[in-house]
Amino acid sequence: MQSSTLPQKKLFGHPSGLFVLFFTEMWERFSFYGMRAILVLYLTAQSTGDNPGLAWTKKEALALYGWYGMFVYFMGIFGGYIADKYLGQKKSVLVGGVFIIAGQFALTIDNISAFYSGLVLLVCGVGLLKPNISTMVGGLYKKGDIKRDSGFIIFYIGINIGALLAPLLVGYIGEKIDWHLGFSLAGFGMILGQIVYVFGRKHLRGVGELLKNSATEAHLADKPLTKEEKDRVVVLLLSFLVVIVFWAAYEQAGGLMSLYTRDSVDRFVFGWEIPTTFFQSLHALYVVLIGAPMAWLWMRWSKSGRESSSIFKMAIGQIIMAISFVALMVSVYEISLSAIGKSPVHWLLLSYFLHVVAELSISPVALSFITKLAPVKYASLMMGAYFAITGFGNKLAGILGEAAQGAGEMTIFALIAGMCLVTGLLLLTLVKKLKKLAHGAEDNIE
Ligand code: GLN
Repeated sequence: MQSSTLPQKKLFGHPSGLFVLFFTEMWERFSFYGMRAILVLYLTAQSTGDNPGLAWTKKEALALYGWYGMFVYFMGIFGGYIADKYLGQKKSVLVGGVFIIAGQFALTIDNISAFYSGLVLLVCGVGLLKPNISTMVGGLYKKGDIKRDSGFIIFYIGINIGALLAPLLVGYIGEKIDWHLGFSLAGFGMILGQIVYVFGRKHLRGVGELLKNSATEAHLADKPLTKEEKDRVVVLLLSFLVVIVFWAAYEQAGGLMSLYTRDSVDRFVFGWEIPTTFFQSLHALYVVLIGAPMAWLWMRWSKSGRESSSIFKMAIGQIIMAISFVALMVSVYEISLSAIGKSPVHWLLLSYFLHVVAELSISPVALSFITKLAPVKYASLMMGAYFAITGFGNKLAGILGEAAQGAGEMTIFALIAGMCLVTGLLLLTLVKKLKKLAHGAEDNIE
């Protein structure tokens, strides 16, 4: 992995550039999740009245939402390719930000062509920005730095602060006042992100540059991949299989689990009924709350010399994800015991909590892992491929959710628990083999 050779200022024990990337990505995610929070509501809102929408059917709106969710991540492959080949990660993030701002403001125009152009601009912008800013985080750390994984968790907390605030602010303004004002607020979020990025660039010297810029690295970039590098790519691709299943399970939250929460869960707590949409903020809230303690725990675990490779953490995460769906199965079972035909709410709260423990053991860990294992000249492309895979996971989540309409929740929750358990256990048994194939790329040097 390319990493800065310049001495870097430290902040809380991490390179100061981490905090530039933290706030840039926090605002980008604010913009992303803000827009996403109102997209379906805007599409399905009546076309008359004070705050008119497009009056689409639910089915049409959800279909667009699904495709948007897939393409916006799938485009990461192209964003990564462009960074490796032409722009470098640092410039790609900047250009991506400009596309996102243009896209969000296109959505503020009350015209269907402007609306579609806005979506295309957003897909291109996020595709350029998202994988490349993640790769840059890895570029801040030297090979073998034990702090890399916790750096990614800090970065991930920033993502989730943005994700937590956006639906509240953009959602409120969009729904209650004006959809287009909501989209422009999302656009302003990205403008703030760009300002942080541009003014903070001095903390990112030597990170995310195009390899061609230096003569020695140009030489390196021309060489074919070595056997070791190829082996590492194989390890990455295998871990991606686990990642698809993980996101397919995790993204039930916005679909099947949301409907289940609305229809089959007793949401009354001390006489107050928790709104269904509240559960949508739980993931981000839990990440912000337990991100730091989890980073600390994994750090202590790894310092004690126990097995703490990324592959091991991902396997454990996947098994915890399986347990979260077992909690949901118990919830469905309890419906049959309940006098009012509903499940108690604590199973849902527990399941969401376990989702996030699993997420923190998989998602930031996978980002870190990619920056350790990807061959230098394909670093951005591999990160882009990872996001594309998460996009497929999202799509698979939708397919599983739809299947539950016929098969019932119990069957689908059990199926998901089974898929997570099998892939998690498989990965666990392969830890030693995969580490060998990674040829020391995973080793921490203190
Ligand atoms: N929720 C995380 C984010 O927005 C991860 C998304 C993903 O990997 N698909 O960055």
